[in-house]
Amino acid sequence: MFKITVLPGDGIGPEVTAGALRVLRAVQKRTGVEFVTREALFGGGAYDQTGTPLPEETLRQCLDSDAVLLGAVGGPKWDNLPVHLRPEAGALLPLRKKLEVYANIRPSVVFSSLADASTLKREVVEGLDIVVVRELTGGLYFGAKRREELSEGGVRVVETLEYTTGEIERVARVAFELARKRRKKLTSVDKANVLESSRLWREVVSGLAGAYPDVELNHMLVDNCAMQLVRNPRQFDVLVTENMFGDILSDQASQLTGSIGMLPSASLGGKVGLYEPIHGSAPDIAGQNMANPIATILSVAMMLRYSFSLDDAAGLVEQAVNTVLEEGYRTADIMQPGMRPVGTMEMAELVAEKVEKS
Ligand code: NAD
Repeated sequence: MFKITVLPGDGIGPEVTAGALRVLRAVQKRTGVEFVTREALFGGGAYDQTGTPLPEETLRQCLDSDAVLLGAVGGPKWDNLPVHLRPEAGALLPLRKKLEVYANIRPSVVFSSLADASTLKREVVEGLDIVVVRELTGGLYFGAKRREELSEGGVRVVETLEYTTGEIERVARVAFELARKRRKKLTSVDKANVLESSRLWREVVSGLAGAYPDVELNHMLVDNCAMQLVRNPRQFDVLVTENMFGDILSDQASQLTGSIGMLPSASLGGKVGLYEPIHGSAPDIAGQNMANPIATILSVAMMLRYSFSLDDAAGLVEQAVNTVLEEGYRTADIMQPGMRPVGTMEMAELVAEKVEKS
């Protein structure tokens, strides 16, 4: 039996998590493994009800689970709150920190039936299967910040970028281990020609290479990497990088697959893993049964694999998604001429039925 805390959040979050839970129930039926799920308040909705985007009770419940499934948070309604009360800064970042999930794993896989849905040419993206490992609890996003009015007029801001050897080493190890189980190629991305933090990053990652002689390591500057990701993305296997570079590069990598609505993520390192689609709360399509639930469904597959070691069950979910796409079903974001349009819950239902019948 596995205990899962579900944080539906805001916007399309409740819709995509409902779809993913439908698929989880199918996995339970198919495998006999029991999943006990409990929802908790999180994000803008939590702020409206309790005055804080991350209630103590939610945090306690997450820490007491085997895994956490998160939809998305945020929306225009909460954009003007003080920073510490906004859904992302006040809930998402502290949750990641409290769960000590320092390694964010974001696969970008192009399903062959969707190769034409990418904005890049089929021959550039077909068969793409890469993973970005992003450091998640350090760097600029967590450093001290300051804003001051200048006496001569205007404003001065200071952001602090800090990393320790230990913080770099632990996320690099996750990336080496992952590369070892895949095509054994690791690209470490930094800006070592300019930043001291990147020079330490490169030193530490290079220092670990001896422990992974089977993994081929190379280093790439982040600006070159951004260019290579659209020029020839299949040259990569696993990429590892610091928090802000990873934030940007993983969104860029996501677009190679056709839609941000396809991409799952796992955040690991602490006792409890956190699983979430990489997209946000998409207020523009919320409540319209239009959101693609596949990113959240594939996040459940990652949960089965990484938190529960149920590799076969994860494979069932991934295969079911593939089959439904092969059969031509599409949500609006991945729609192509001649395909069969479906809404959020219908897509989830189709995947769940495939899992049950597999
Ligand atoms: P977004 O990811 O919510 O949306 C970007 C675009 O992608 C929109 O056009 C949206 O309709 C589309 N999209 C996103 N997910 C989709 C899905 N599953 N199916 C179909 N289309 C999808 O990013 P944004 O618009 O920059 O941000 C909206 C809100 O989400 C903001 O408040 C932001 O702060 C928040 N946000 C939250 C998270 C998170 O919870 N992890 C991440 C990013 C942004």
